[in-house]
Parts: sequence; structure tokens; C-alpha cells
Amino acid sequence: TEGLSVEQAQQMALNVADKIIAAEPILSQADRDLGDGDHGLGMQRGFTALKAAVDGTKFDNLRELYQTAGTALLSTMGGASGVVFGSLYLAGGKTMHGAEFFGSHELAHLLEQALKDVMSRGGAKPGDKTMIDALHPAVEAAKANIDKPLSESIKAVAEAAEAGKEASKDMIATMGRAKTLGEKTLGLPDAGAISVTIILQTMADYIND
Ligand code: ADP
Ligand code: MG
Ligand code: MG
Repeated sequence: TEGLSVEQAQQMALNVADKIIAAEPILSQADRDLGDGDHGLGMQRGFTALKAAVDGTKFDNLRELYQTAGTALLSTMGGASGVVFGSLYLAGGKTMHGAEFFGSHELAHLLEQALKDVMSRGGAKPGDKTMIDALHPAVEAAKANIDKPLSESIKAVAEAAEAGKEASKDMIATMGRAKTLGEKTLGLPDAGAISVTIILQTMADYIND
């Protein structure tokens, strides 16, 4: 079956970091519209640290790679989103064990664990206009495509996240700072949902190139 080696997953993580760092202006503006405006710089700080921790390091398995990446985010981003995006990568560390192969099963298990951890740590649920509104449909797509090749499942996952991010425009924020804006949040997407979409789309691009 089709999938990535540890070295390829490592390169994919570096590509994702570059895309998130480059998206700083977009993420900052999205969080300026609905929050306190710091999401772009927080993600830039976290993913710069992730790059420093991952680039040039020799990882024996996927667990080590994702644990290192998640710890870098958690320890440099701080706040709610440090826990949220740290959890996304630490979920890889939790589910991959000693795996040296990243396929559709690994993708589905990582995303499912991430959703579980983000929901239990942050208390938000689908429909609250957070990154969960991109992550939750991504999990459903990963589970539905678990027996397909990785090139197909990751494409379905990225498309589902994008659709979820778009759907977040029609939601009224009920969590965090955006909550105080109430109906004024209608029409705008959640910043964290944009970040999730960029992460998964960059993975899809790497796997399909
Ligand atoms: P902060 O809200 O602390 O300023 P950021 O601006 O970096 O942190 O991140 C904001 C994003 O984090 C939101 O757009 C949302 O997607 C996500 N987020 C915040 N709180 C939660 C939560 N409890 N559960 C899931 N995601 C959350
Ligand atoms: Mg913010
Ligand atoms: Mg903040």
C-alpha cells in the first residue's frame, strides 16, 4: 500500500511550516476581524520553532517526529491555540507508536485523536466557529476514505476541511473573544479553521506532487 516514509513525513512537516509562516498576514487579518489579531504571529512563532526542532533531526519513527513537532508548538505558542495546535501534532505522537509508514490509516487515527483531544481540552464542539469546524469534517472524510490510497484520502480530507472552513462563515461564535461579537461574526471564517485548511492542503499537495 501507498504512503510516506519517516523522512517524507518530516519533509511534509517542513513544507507545512513554511506555508503557515507565509500565511501570517492572512491569519492575522482573520483574527483581527473576529478576535484579538494575534493568531498569525502565534502560528508563525510556533511553526518557526517546529522547523528548528524538525529540520536536520534524525527521527527513528513517526511518533518521535510528531511528538517533537507538537512539543515545539506547545512550548512556544502558549495560550488556547498553543494547546489546540500542539494537540493536533501530539495526536500523531500518541497514535503512531513506532510506525515508520504514514498511510491512510495513520492519517485517520491522527485526526480522530486530535479532534478528541482538542474537544476535551478546549470544551468547544462543532458549530462553535473554531478550528473544530474544519477538523471535524476532515476526520469524517479520513474515516470514510481509510481504505483508499493516501493520495486519495488526503485529497478528500483537505477538501472537507476547506468546506468546513467555508461553512464556519455562517456560524455565530460562541467561544473565546469572538463570542462578544455575536452575530457580527457572520460572514467571516474562523482564523484557526483557515490554519487547519492550510495544514491539510499543504499535506495533500506534498503527497500528490
Ligand atoms: P487566542 O484565541 O488565545 O488569541 P489564537 O488567536 O492564536 O489564540 O487562536 C485563535 C483560534 O484558536 C481560533 O480561531 C479558534 O479556531 C481556535 N480556538 C480557540 N479556542 C478554541 C477552543 N476552545 N477549541 C478549539 N479551538 C479553539
Ligand atoms: Mg487571537
Ligand atoms: Mg490572544
